[in-house]
Amino acid sequence: MIISPSIYRAFENAPGFDADAFCGVHASGEQISSIRINPAKLNDLSDLGFSVESPVPWCKSGWYLEERPFYTFDPLLHAGAYYVQEASSMFLEQALKQTLDCSAPLRVLDLCAAPGGKSTHIQSVLSPDSVLVCNEVIRSRAAILEENITKWGGANVIVTNNDPRDFSRLTGLFDAMVVDAPCSGSGMFRKDASAAENWSADLVTLCSQRQQRIIADIWPSLKEDGILIYATCSYSIEEDEMIADFIMEELGAESFPLSIDSNWNIVISNSPKYNATGYRFYPDKLKGEGFFLAVFKKTSGTEKSSKKSVRPKWETVPKINYKVLERWLSVKGMRFISINDSILALTEQMEETLVQLQSLYIKRAGITMGKIAGKELIPDHSLALSTLVSPHLSSIELDRDLALQYLRKEEIRVGDIPKGWTIACYKNHPLGWIKVLPNRTNNYYPKEWRILKPA
Ligand code: SAM
Repeated sequence: MIISPSIYRAFENAPGFDADAFCGVHASGEQISSIRINPAKLNDLSDLGFSVESPVPWCKSGWYLEERPFYTFDPLLHAGAYYVQEASSMFLEQALKQTLDCSAPLRVLDLCAAPGGKSTHIQSVLSPDSVLVCNEVIRSRAAILEENITKWGGANVIVTNNDPRDFSRLTGLFDAMVVDAPCSGSGMFRKDASAAENWSADLVTLCSQRQQRIIADIWPSLKEDGILIYATCSYSIEEDEMIADFIMEELGAESFPLSIDSNWNIVISNSPKYNATGYRFYPDKLKGEGFFLAVFKKTSGTEKSSKKSVRPKWETVPKINYKVLERWLSVKGMRFISINDSILALTEQMEETLVQLQSLYIKRAGITMGKIAGKELIPDHSLALSTLVSPHLSSIELDRDLALQYLRKEEIRVGDIPKGWTIACYKNHPLGWIKVLPNRTNNYYPKEWRILKPA
């Protein structure tokens, strides 16, 4: 890809930018493939149907691949065993681990979360008694976020579909927030040619204004001493260092520098006015796409919201049903609530957070167990993919062809196995439910997620 001078000249004031090397790496046509594995689901890399090349240096679960596989036809992707993610953005792990006590129960907001790359990463880094709220303002994208969160299987995630301004009244609620802001996308030029076609100086200005608005909107919901991690995939200082200055000047924050290995070739930048530290990733200097990240600690106080006891909008599940429900899980002690007849399993911290979030549009929370019919549970897909599903339920191992048939939502023929609900697995990783009837099996894979691409 040839980057036109009218574009790359706009980045010449960016710290560390080298026009010749930048144009060279875009012209070379080289593409980098990387994945991040789900440590709660995959502990043996040899289960992957393709070879990994080398680790991503700044992320424990990140791997570069030798070549790009056909991900759509890999059942393990659909099982949530890994996520296809660009390597530079996995640097988020350093920001989380160096600024937070990730073994403590934290409340974290991922504000611009779809499709879920950073959310699934944050979920893997936080402790199970933390709560991660993933928000996406665009409805169709919130559905994709929900799908990826469900596949990842963490029980401590709430997905919301709100405008950032809806968070402003949740004063002092979060210990940390990640704003992976909508941006002009120059960092993605190499992966996505349309990003270069759509790029303009006006777009940078528009994005910069929007970024300021978004951060100002959610700022009250960050606790005093809370951590803000701000990221973009833009090289423009208007969206990076100048936003860092805006945060320092307008909102009351201090810059939080990270320690990084000089071999990583990340460019350290300082904002023009307040010297805030930022981290710049250039594709001509390291194996990854364009990315910017900066961390801030909130110094100004926000009064914590007065804890009015709001009556929850949901019903509690009668204790008599707990036995039926707990049979499906590998842990005891979850709380069960019922919303629109659907039963959710929540940790104590999740239930407390959900009470605080009642003014938001909640798309999913915890594990959707399913619906009770008579004395039986009709299990939800989310339960099959949860990392807390009981290992003692009936399951059947499918080979790759059968697994793909299952993921296309076709009828699959299985041998003589007990009747009733059974988890369809590939390499021991749950893909979803089938119901075995006397003369056939019903495939309960969600219609909207099925593989449509011909083989
Ligand atoms: N964090 C995501 C990940 O790692 O997969 C990528 C996020 S993408 C860079 C930015 C997201 O911000 C998009 O999903 C976009 O829909 C959302 N967005 C767009 N306009 C927004 C706005 N005004 N406020 C908040 N989010 C917005």
